[in-house]
Amino acid sequence: MSIVRMYRQRNRYFPISPAFFDSFSMAALEALQAIYKFYDVFITRFPVACGPGCSACCSVNVSVTSLEIDYIKKNKLLAEKEIQRRIAAASAHPHFIPSLTTNQLARFCLRQQEPPEETGMHAPGQCPLLGDDGRCQVYANRPFSCRAMLSTSRCKADGEAIMEPFLFTINLALYQIIEHLDLHGISGNMLDMLAGNENNTIVNSALPGFLVSPAEQPQFQQLLKKIKKYPVGKGYLDDFFPPRTFSL
Ligand code: SF4
Repeated sequence: MSIVRMYRQRNRYFPISPAFFDSFSMAALEALQAIYKFYDVFITRFPVACGPGCSACCSVNVSVTSLEIDYIKKNKLLAEKEIQRRIAAASAHPHFIPSLTTNQLARFCLRQQEPPEETGMHAPGQCPLLGDDGRCQVYANRPFSCRAMLSTSRCKADGEAIMEPFLFTINLALYQIIEHLDLHGISGNMLDMLAGNENNTIVNSALPGFLVSPAEQPQFQQLLKKIKKYPVGKGYLDDFFPPRTFSL
């Protein structure tokens, strides 16, 4: 049985051996990279003003999943003492601590319920992974929150991005898919997750459905078909998810 199929049927395999868990994580990381690659091509259809050296969105308020942290940690920079010191220092200062994951928030919206008020506050300060030249030092490994922060015009001083509505819808859907891919993991602020402050994290939730307006649904369905059949190893992205995940 392939590792992908084992991943899909993971609940039947618990308790699992450490060796299986390693393979399981590697397969999930491959799937994460496939989502990133899909997105890289997808966004080329949108006019984007973002470019090298533009770092208005590189703040201390970036939310990520644990799987994405595993991928960031593959970058050799994270092993450097100086960068670890900078992450620890930034995590000790105020930063946004999310109280809900994307899928938890989506579940409230789909049930037309008011979600609990977000208790986390955005704080000033630059991401410690930003280089002195204004470029991300872990660019190839950056999380989806950073990839998705695109703007059709240069952000204002407060970092506010202007985004086309359909791009916003797809971003939200991919955040949800990435969280589901890391269903047994956690989410939180990137600084807390890198510094190992697990008290500030939230357990990930299953994808409850997508938030798509009726007008966007035909285009969204087309895109979902492409995402689910995006190749990962010898299989496809939808091998990693329960049946009917990629449908409205
Ligand atoms: S990880 Fe990179 S892209 Fe993301 S906020 Fe930090 S410096 Fe910016």
